Amino acid sequence: AEQIGQLFQPFNRLGRDTGQEEGTGIGLVVTKQLVELMGGTIGVESIVGVGSVFWVEFSASSAPALVFGHEGDARVLQPGMTEQGHDLPRRTVLYVEDNPANMALVEQLIARRSDLHLLCAIDGLQGVTMAREHLPDVILMDINLPGISGFGALTILRGDPTTAHIPVLALSANAIPREVEKGINAGFFRYLTKPIKVDEFMEALDLALASIPAKSSDLRVGSA
Ligand code: MN
Repeated sequence: AEQIGQLFQPFNRLGRDTGQEEGTGIGLVVTKQLVELMGGTIGVESIVGVGSVFWVEFSASSAPALVFGHEGDARVLQPGMTEQGHDLPRRTVLYVEDNPANMALVEQLIARRSDLHLLCAIDGLQGVTMAREHLPDVILMDINLPGISGFGALTILRGDPTTAHIPVLALSANAIPREVEKGINAGFFRYLTKPIKVDEFMEALDLALASIPAKSSDLRVGSA
């Protein structure tokens, strides 16, 4: 108990400096700093000859907010709409992803393309709902999602005549060849693995866009 106060001091190994176990005595100091930088607390309970319990405590965070495309983009909810001054029809991409870092990266990549705009959903069911509502031209689907998986969402989309035609690209952290094969067999247009490789990603996206008959978006504009 009398040594616990020294535990989080740098290079203080509480007299174990000459022992067999390697170390420099900074691990707990770094841990404490990281925990506190994130607004948390760290503590320890220790019984000599029995063991020690280290604990960390953090505030719960709220789920990321739903993002509808980019700020100030009034055309976000108009699939197939022609951008002013351009002949290219604007294509809509729906990205279903629960990881904010991946979402931010894809948002940046899509923002470079004036012919594309992005809709975002943070879980599989929301993705299916938005796909039915907005009929995007292409869907990017994370596999490991809260609620239903990317495979489950694909099954629903394929079973619904209004969304069955939309090419769906899988984006998964699981790079095992058997999983990739399973993804292609399930009906994904492409199965891309994370971390996202920008060239491969844009190429696959363009292939998916090219696979859509030009008529479909024209028809949609006409019937809107
Ligand atoms: Mn995920």
